[in-house]
Amino acid sequence: MDEEELHTTAAQRLRSAGLRYTGSRRAVVGVLARSDRPLTIPEILGEDGSLAQSSAYRNLTELIGAGIVHRIVAGDEFSHFELAEDLTSHHHHLVCTRCGRVADVTLSDELEASLDVALAKVAEQQGFHAEHHRLDVLGLCADCARTEEGVSR
Ligand SMILES: [Zn+2]
Ligand SMILES: [Zn+2]
Ligand SMILES: [Zn+2]
Repeated sequence: MDEEELHTTAAQRLRSAGLRYTGSRRAVVGVLARSDRPLTIPEILGEDGSLAQSSAYRNLTELIGAGIVHRIVAGDEFSHFELAEDLTSHHHHLVCTRCGRVADVTLSDELEASLDVALAKVAEQQGFHAEHHRLDVLGLCADCARTEEGVSR
């Protein structure tokens, strides 16, 4: 999806939610579209000087409600934001529970297929019909793991 198409889709989704696609909402979506990883609110503000901190949180909440933005929670204080998966492509996250860093990771089609089979089996036991999955890996990023090692030595 190119950026123009993305903005058209975002505008439609907000309209269905009874909201307008204001300049600052459009700017937030643009920042997320140009980033190759999920961003925190301070990072989003740093990318576009025209955005005000006061409205950024509310705009993100509304964009999440309209199904345009997805929030990745990494600990209490490190929410990261990215475009919803149906606007980008399916992937997973490596979430550092110490510094909050979030990295996108893509699995091979083969691995995705075996994950779907395994998860569908578990779901079926509960009479649950699986449609798709979300799966994030929690742990320590390379930098934090190195620090941890240094401390324990
Ligand atoms: Zn870390
Ligand atoms: Zn992601
Ligand atoms: Zn997957």
